[in-house]
Amino acid sequence: MKSYTLMTPGPVPLPPEVLEIMARPMEHHRTPEFVQLFNRVLANLKKVFLTEEPVFIHTSTGSGGMESALVNCLSPGDEVISIVSGKFGERWADMAEVYGAKVTRIEVPWGQVVRREQVEDALRKQPNAVAVLCQACETSTGVLHPIRELAQLTKNHRAVLMVDAITAMGALPLPMDEWGLDVLIAGSQKAFMLPTGLSFISFSKKAWKLTETSKCPKFYFDIRAEREANENGESLFSSAVTHVRALDLVLEIFLGQGMHRVYERIQALSKATIVAAREMGLEIFSSTPSPSLTAIKIPDGIDGQKVRAEMEKSFAVIVMGGQDQLKGKIIRIGHMGAIRDEDLIATLRALAGSINKMKLGAIDDAKVEAACTKASGILRETPAVVLKT
Ligand SMILES: *Cc1c(COP(=O)(O)O)cnc(C)c1O
Repeated sequence: MKSYTLMTPGPVPLPPEVLEIMARPMEHHRTPEFVQLFNRVLANLKKVFLTEEPVFIHTSTGSGGMESALVNCLSPGDEVISIVSGKFGERWADMAEVYGAKVTRIEVPWGQVVRREQVEDALRKQPNAVAVLCQACETSTGVLHPIRELAQLTKNHRAVLMVDAITAMGALPLPMDEWGLDVLIAGSQKAFMLPTGLSFISFSKKAWKLTETSKCPKFYFDIRAEREANENGESLFSSAVTHVRALDLVLEIFLGQGMHRVYERIQALSKATIVAAREMGLEIFSSTPSPSLTAIKIPDGIDGQKVRAEMEKSFAVIVMGGQDQLKGKIIRIGHMGAIRDEDLIATLRALAGSINKMKLGAIDDAKVEAACTKASGILRETPAVVLKT
């Protein structure tokens, strides 16, 4: 297999220690050793979510976590307000409709942030709404939404706030209890630096109330059954032992260093990317960029899909392009996972080199050098987070 520099906003590059632990021999999930590890992991997840409520692990992708939030809280016919500012917002609204919810969509132009008044207005018009759905970071556009403000609105309303924080948890602070977030969802292949395959979810007291009356069909995702099993120290079904052992290690890295260090590193990668892009004369696509990824506009007249392909072919750097209306218009660079300083520098050079290949002289060499120097300087001040030994 050819080796690439993986710079996508999920999946992300994994720390060597994680790769090593995943290669260990299989163990049964009901052994006393694994049960002990499983319980430590659940306790440590609470320290990342900053909640007194239990956090659960599903063996599913992030979308499974989003589905779990809906099926555990909703009943067919429920009114739901869904903030749609990109692909993931669309997905969640569609999913709620599949389960029979009456969904009102707050459409936000891609790249823009939802305005407080839009949500306030929707809640006023729909006193019976049961839930507001929002991405913390809308990964398709790189926008960070004002989650804390939205929680202040739902606090005084019947509706719960469900937050898809799949590219936000572990990348920036989202204190669940302090901010009053009702359902909070994370995924393994983003800031948690693991392979795809696990989602994490927690429910506030207000959300637990809904689980008592929810009539959506559910079996694997039945969170009340899972809670009962967890209270007896076990998972309801087989645990993804390999992934959970690796998660235990990641949580040790996170908590050993302190989450603030993890957030600072991601913030530094974001800042370095934005500063470097501007230095090269490129524009940032989102109005309020999330630290977890940066969406960069491809200059007019250049096909971003070709730029992305060129970065892969000639530089062995993998980034993401835009989807749907953004196809060919942006490229997205992830800042989560075990990213070394040189990985970002290689990505910046690959981006400039590929744009120049499409349009000779679009970015001059001196600007590329200046951009890389500035980016290196920013990263050097905030080194990557590693396991404390
Ligand atoms: C990655 C991601 C998901 C989950 O996608 P899966 O492919 O199901 O893991 C959901 N929401 C957002 C915002 C994401 O970035």
